[in-house]
Amino acid sequence: MRLALYAATALGLATATIASAETPPDRWHAKAREIYERAISIPTVQGRGQVPALAQYLQEQFRAGGLEGVTIHPYEVERPADRTAALILRWPAARPSGRKAMLLMAHMDVVEARREDWSRDPFQLGEEGGYFYGRGTLDDKQGVVAVTAALLRLRAEGFRPTRDIIVLFTGDEETGGRGAELASTQWIDTSTLDFALNADAGGGAFLADGRLLGFGIQTAEKTYQSYILTATNPGGHSSRPRPDNAIYALAHTLDRLERHRFEPMQNETTRAYFAHRAESAEPALAAAIRRWLANPNDGEAADAIEASETEVGITRTRCVATRLEGGHADNALPQLARATVNCRIFPGVDPASVLATLRGLGQPDNVTVEPVDPARPTDASPLRADVVGAYTAAVRARHPNAAVTPDMSTGATDGLYFRARGVPVYGVDGSWAVIPADERAHGRDERLPVRAFYNDVDHWTDLIRRLAG
Ligand SMILES: [Zn+2]
Repeated sequence: MRLALYAATALGLATATIASAETPPDRWHAKAREIYERAISIPTVQGRGQVPALAQYLQEQFRAGGLEGVTIHPYEVERPADRTAALILRWPAARPSGRKAMLLMAHMDVVEARREDWSRDPFQLGEEGGYFYGRGTLDDKQGVVAVTAALLRLRAEGFRPTRDIIVLFTGDEETGGRGAELASTQWIDTSTLDFALNADAGGGAFLADGRLLGFGIQTAEKTYQSYILTATNPGGHSSRPRPDNAIYALAHTLDRLERHRFEPMQNETTRAYFAHRAESAEPALAAAIRRWLANPNDGEAADAIEASETEVGITRTRCVATRLEGGHADNALPQLARATVNCRIFPGVDPASVLATLRGLGQPDNVTVEPVDPARPTDASPLRADVVGAYTAAVRARHPNAAVTPDMSTGATDGLYFRARGVPVYGVDGSWAVIPADERAHGRDERLPVRAFYNDVDHWTDLIRRLAG
């Protein structure tokens, strides 16, 4: 998953100045490109059974590079039915420092892409105008490849880690997260982990005029939870309408939901994020942010921030109707009307309280509310000085004056399974994109600036050296 890299307001600026072509300057960049090309060519879409082929290829790469401790864990997923796999690499400490292990995460699967929807073959790496094109160039094969190439390089250069390094590449992040769940409960003893670094989140954003907005380090994710709202009624002939009606009952509930505002909230991550955001936001938004930071009880200021185009979902829990069905004939009173409401719950909020709120909204009309799957709430990870410091240093090695800001995702990644087990997880990828032009994860003609790709290989090399050296 990779949603907006960074909030931005500027649209339609001049053509990109960042995306100038560059030939690989060293053998590790060339090696990374070779792995990237192969990885993109394997359509690791759920239902096609291709993730094990990529896992196999990466295992060969690690072994050829002298990293022997690689295992492949096959597993099954249901929606749609598929055999997939996760890869786990263990590189034991050569000079043990007594510190717990560091986990590096990325995912090998990608969202489906159809040839006819794209202007080129999505499963062939293209390079044009300073960009790499192909499904997964951004989400998240670049993360897989950057971590892989960085480890191969460090191994070849004789790097001796002072703590165990464990790598987890999953095979169903986009559809289920079962690989991360199994890894966090069965394949990896989470009590041995100090923290996890996720290549599927974080990263930088440039505007088309070349200005760098900054880099985000993801430390929190909202909880994903859907609910089914159901209204039932005895029904009857439509020529004789009853006073009560399932469609009206549901509509009244949805109307109350539309007007409902959950309580605004802040945490360490969003406070740091907004403190930085106030410096670049347009004046009205900046003023609202400053008012809210000064007084977290200023609900009006929080509402103004939430209503802006760029900060949606960051000030609180949000729920929205996403699906609707009801009735069974043109000339019959509806016996059933049903809506799906999707919520993104603020970290630390008990999903039971959201359920209670929704049930309250349905009550005057006897609309029932049930959660779809059990929620997996996670707390925000603490802003650890060692991780934030290493990320900031690695970013500034390539972008000297970059602002680095903590970031809360409104979506979810594999990281949540480890956060749920008490392991702090940090989205610390070092690639970047030009926004909004390059925000194409899951979309048509997905791409990544060529320089961002090579930067990311160097970034991960740097980051691992700093945190395990
Ligand atoms: Zn992803």
